[in-house]
Amino acid sequence: STPSDLTLVGAYLEKRLPPSLGVPEVAFLGRSNVGKSSLLNKLVAKVGGDTARVGKTPGATAAVNLYALLGQPKRKGGSLITGAGGAKPILGFADLPGFGFAKLSKETKESVEDTAELYLGKRRELSLGILLVDSRRIPNEDDRAVLAALFDMGVPLIVVATKSDKLKSSEVDMAMAEIRDGLGLPDGQPLRISCVTGEGIRELWSIILDACES
Ligand code: GDP
Repeated sequence: STPSDLTLVGAYLEKRLPPSLGVPEVAFLGRSNVGKSSLLNKLVAKVGGDTARVGKTPGATAAVNLYALLGQPKRKGGSLITGAGGAKPILGFADLPGFGFAKLSKETKESVEDTAELYLGKRRELSLGILLVDSRRIPNEDDRAVLAALFDMGVPLIVVATKSDKLKSSEVDMAMAEIRDGLGLPDGQPLRISCVTGEGIRELWSIILDACES
């Protein structure tokens, strides 16, 4: 087995929440195609794990797909992460494909949103929410509604702008300002990330570990 791995714990719906792994969890939210599975794989690759573990969401209509990250990431000189052997869960990654963005039947949507809301509002292990937005898109009402809901539920949050490699350098400042203003984010956000160039991945790991340690 690889030093660090993502293992699917399960897909959850109908107000059933995953069993506790006894470790902090990070929730990933964003509309489909935003680059969520790519980011999960990139984060795991960074700690020495295998890539392409997370394919298309296993439970497409699940409210919560919980993965356990197995291994032993360590800090090195502040923010660098290295993988090491071990099969213990050290972090949980919760993929919330249905929250806010999914186009679902009314019935499914209610079940998904209720369960996701229960997870976001009540999950003790939840240490950080990561909202993914596409670098090239101006945020819309859905994005703002999701952000407001997370804020209301008291979820510590960071917004990341995905696929930053697709912007020309002359476009970066304007694109980030549009996202920042569109979502009312503080200075320094969104964090630009790219799974192609690796931009922002190390910083994001550092933010994740900070949130999970505090
Ligand atoms: P998901 O639906 O949110 O899980 O999105 P995926 O991770 O499947 O990505 C959707 C598409 O965007 C795929 O074709 C990916 O190859 C592409 N993609 C994801 N991240 C990046 C990135 O950082 N840079 C570029 N150029 N393409 C990306």
